[in-house]
Amino acid sequence: MQAISDALASFWQIWSPNLILDVGRYVIAAGGMALILKLFWNAGLGRRKIQARSASRDDVRREILTSLRTGIIFSLTGVVIVLGAINGVFTIYPDFEVAGIGYLAISLAAIIVAHDAYFYWTHRLMHHPRLFRYFHRTHHRSVTPTPFAAYAFDVPEALMMAMFTPLWLLLVPMHVLGLFLFMAFMIVRNVMGHAGVELMPRALADSRWFGWINATTHHDLHHSSFHHNYGLYFTWWDRLMGTEHPAYREQLRGHREENAAPAAREPYRPLAAKGAAVPRLSSAE
Ligand SMILES: [Zn+2]
Ligand SMILES: [Zn+2]
Repeated sequence: MQAISDALASFWQIWSPNLILDVGRYVIAAGGMALILKLFWNAGLGRRKIQARSASRDDVRREILTSLRTGIIFSLTGVVIVLGAINGVFTIYPDFEVAGIGYLAISLAAIIVAHDAYFYWTHRLMHHPRLFRYFHRTHHRSVTPTPFAAYAFDVPEALMMAMFTPLWLLLVPMHVLGLFLFMAFMIVRNVMGHAGVELMPRALADSRWFGWINATTHHDLHHSSFHHNYGLYFTWWDRLMGTEHPAYREQLRGHREENAAPAAREPYRPLAAKGAAVPRLSSAE
């Protein structure tokens, strides 16, 4: 009996900080983005709203509940990572004597590029008709995403997403700060992609040097049109594989669908009236 209670106590000791980290970063990033939208709506963000439609209260409730479930799943993966590090399966080092700041920067850039590739290909896999219903349907119930949709996953999708970091750590040693910065980058870019208003400069559409960075319109179009724009941070894979939405660059330039214009001049109204119909989006046809 004592052995079981000791095991539970040490499990909780490892799990609780991971729970705070994974659920906390979602709450802070999604809540913070919602607050930014509210505060700066009239100052200009309202004019950058991407879709005419607004999410319903039910949409937001579903996004929050499923995202919290994903946060719990991620935190359990965190337990696996900590146990793996303790037992020498993964190398997560806390000081700069093992490797310097240069290695931290390179390994951070590498994990972001690798995660973008992992996301693109697992995302395309989850769109396969045989898998979609089990893996990815919950995420696409958000036709007009809000920042709270960041982790709105079915359980199998959450597990697939959670597997990336342990797989990476099997191959690449990481400084603990590098891992933390990666997690922060991931959630910030994730809530930006679901913000519903364009947060990036429109010049990205035609920028020779920065056109490879995904704007919010990129992932928003994935939600509204379903069949294009599978990438998370960068446009590389979509361009290489011919899956970039044909209207992406034009919409990013500011030539929005005709039904997107009126909402931009309305006062702050993040939520639609209950039962509001989903309009047909020209880009979905
Ligand atoms: Zn998708
Ligand atoms: Zn999404």
